[in-house]
Amino acid sequence: MSQIDGLPPLRDVIAQHDLQAKKALGQNFLLDLNLTARIARAAGDLKGSDILEVGPGPGGLTRGLLAEGARRVLAIEKDPRCLPALAEIAAAYPGRLEVIEGDALQIDPLAHLTLPIKICANLPYNVGTELLVRWLTPAQWPPVWSSLTLMFQKEVAERIVAKPGSKAYGRLALLAQWRCEARIVLTLPPSAFTPPPKIDSAVVHLTALPEPRFPAPAKTLERVVAAGFNQRRKMLRSALKGLDPQIEARLTRLGIAPTARAEEIGLEQFCALARDFG
Ligand code: SAM
Repeated sequence: MSQIDGLPPLRDVIAQHDLQAKKALGQNFLLDLNLTARIARAAGDLKGSDILEVGPGPGGLTRGLLAEGARRVLAIEKDPRCLPALAEIAAAYPGRLEVIEGDALQIDPLAHLTLPIKICANLPYNVGTELLVRWLTPAQWPPVWSSLTLMFQKEVAERIVAKPGSKAYGRLALLAQWRCEARIVLTLPPSAFTPPPKIDSAVVHLTALPEPRFPAPAKTLERVVAAGFNQRRKMLRSALKGLDPQIEARLTRLGIAPTARAEEIGLEQFCALARDFG
């Protein structure tokens, strides 16, 4: 019995349901319920919120979220082998856990949740960035979620919080920081997982800002940033030429050095450029 919820320890759950981790599904499980409760707490006060969890696996983080008082957890899991273990958790928390079997890239369950909504997940590495980009680029801002608390490879987490001039700075940093407050709240060594991955991991907490830090048309900003970083060693005057043959004059007019590289350009300047394109 575990202390947080009276359910069996995760090691026993995995043995009982024969949940051998599959690499193709990005399965690196967290078995320490103190740690999963800590990650759940990093998502803030859960009591009045619905939580979307992607990839609950054997349910370590799910149990953390429920024990920390989440009003309701909606979990999407691709691996049907995990469903019986998750059903046991649902039975221990009547009416508070719903599990959908499926691919989080194909299902958008946010419409089935009640505001306020938080997203919290130990994401499978192979789909983590794609899901983050989707959550960061909804049709309308503010988004339906108020915060994202997500485990990534440490290197990806560093790209999300990176500042201009650093190697990690790029599209992900700009996308995240334009409309969110983003910070790394926890770094974990491979030994925290079963089986251990090759690299360190980190939890990033992103809070949605009510409005973007600087005004800009979202699609244009994404296009300008993507073009700028597509060949990040190129000067802006060549990297952005495809968007405007007269880009050099445009950059000069906006006070941006045409010889600068995208990695030297801050969010405010990228937004000014996107506004100028209209
Ligand atoms: N949350 C569990 C934990 O912390 O121990 C498991 C995390 S494990 C890194 C990722 C989980 O995502 C696995 O259970 C895997 O089966 C699931 N998964 C992988 N791809 C998925 C997808 N496209 N949609 C939903 N779940 C997926």
